[in-house]
Amino acid sequence: MKSLLLSLALATGLQAAAPPNFVFIFCDDLTVQAISAYGHKLKLLETPHMDRIAREGMLFERCLVPNSICGPSRAVIQTGKYSHRNGFYHNGSRFDSSQPTMPKMLQKAGYQTAVIGKWHLVSDPVGFDHWHILPGQGLYYNPPMIRDGQQVKHEGYTTDLIGDFSVEWLKNRDKTKPFLLMSQHKAPHREWAPALRHLGWQGDRVFPEPATLFDDYAGRGRAEKEQDMTLEKTFTERDAKLVPPPNLTPAQLKVWNAYYEPLNEKMRQASLSGKDIVHWRYQRYMHDYLACVKAVDENVGKLLDALEAEGVAENTMVILSSDQGFYLGEHGWFDKRWIYEESLTTPFFARWPGKIQPGSRSPAMVSILDVPETFLEAAGLPVPAEMQGRSLLPLFAGKTPADWRKSFYYHYYEFPGAHSVRKHYGVVTDRYKLFHFYEPDMNSWTLIDRQSDPDEMTNVYDDPAHAAARADLHAELTRLRTELKVPEQDPPESVLRPGAGKAKKAAGKKAPAGAAKK
Ligand code: CA
Repeated sequence: MKSLLLSLALATGLQAAAPPNFVFIFCDDLTVQAISAYGHKLKLLETPHMDRIAREGMLFERCLVPNSICGPSRAVIQTGKYSHRNGFYHNGSRFDSSQPTMPKMLQKAGYQTAVIGKWHLVSDPVGFDHWHILPGQGLYYNPPMIRDGQQVKHEGYTTDLIGDFSVEWLKNRDKTKPFLLMSQHKAPHREWAPALRHLGWQGDRVFPEPATLFDDYAGRGRAEKEQDMTLEKTFTERDAKLVPPPNLTPAQLKVWNAYYEPLNEKMRQASLSGKDIVHWRYQRYMHDYLACVKAVDENVGKLLDALEAEGVAENTMVILSSDQGFYLGEHGWFDKRWIYEESLTTPFFARWPGKIQPGSRSPAMVSILDVPETFLEAAGLPVPAEMQGRSLLPLFAGKTPADWRKSFYYHYYEFPGAHSVRKHYGVVTDRYKLFHFYEPDMNSWTLIDRQSDPDEMTNVYDDPAHAAARADLHAELTRLRTELKVPEQDPPESVLRPGAGKAKKAAGKKAPAGAAKK
């Protein structure tokens, strides 16, 4: 194994350097609005440890996801391919682990590989020397997990456990080998259940609301009006913490209730109605969501410290990202799925001492599609032609190639499904978005000009002022669909069947509580 790595290193002129290690920190539903390094105008939260990666490395201002939902993004990280090429279209899909994946390639080249935390690809991880994953969506507290094929149960807050297990693996790894560690958090996914130590840590702070919290979708079409993901209509009692999350111990439940019950009682006595309910839910949502992010941030810090303690920080590339962005009340929404900016983009930081200028920023259009190519090239390994992203190494060196992507293809499939977001595909450029709701009963085109309409409120598809852009974007969309080999018709496996992916658990294991949630 080592000789293969060595010969490849020689062939690519890396003979002097030891192969780099890779730490990939992947969050679930973490969004740039919640990270201080991104300088969001609402200044919701300080995230010193994530910001540290930016300060010591590079912040990517616009990282895009090909299909804004959990499982599909995870399949992209494994394969470097779009959903229509890796076969994982929606959260009812099952990952075909027989296809080439980045972890398998690194493992074959002599890397020690581990994935810890959220996996969400239904089939068991392949290409890992060690895996310790949540079944399905997983639970926020006292999670059942699967460790190298064996069911185990843990007590504690899942974000902390994932951080601890990641550090533990790092300390006990085979130190003669380079490594890939994928440390993948469940948080801050719905139902945004904070660590008990963070309950109330922001006091009675009132968070500013986004300008579009009461969007009526008048400037867009039926698809936006008919979704089911608003704070007004879709927020559940569990989302609002009117009922506690599952699986708390009696002692934990006591602490939980001591915090939420007085607040809930106050809310009940206020007898809220109309918009006041939305105002109240937004505050509840922000307090809980941001508390979940705070715990992730602390665990990011823990892992960065462990890299230093292990003496490997210098030769380790750290990437932090999320499977997609998330709405924090924009357009009245929570959740993701749309080509609209908050869920299309995702946080992306990279640190690699000596290779990336500290404190640098890149405005280039990058994607989570680029992650496997980047790791493979940095390891001196060939990048398979079937991968559809591109290595970020030139960008790390501060040199964006002249032919770097200036447009990006997006495709969402999960309908009918949770939150009723209709199937759509489209093309994105720095300025515009052109997208198509293509089901026969919803056939419509939308053109958004982000330059004049940064909040993405108005469809200008039929506005003559944008006719030239519209024609160019149609041509670009056709070109991208051809280049990326998007089938003319969606294949049968892209259709979400009720219950698909939920019944089929890791071989022979009964689904623990919480595993079947989307
Ligand atoms: Ca997600």
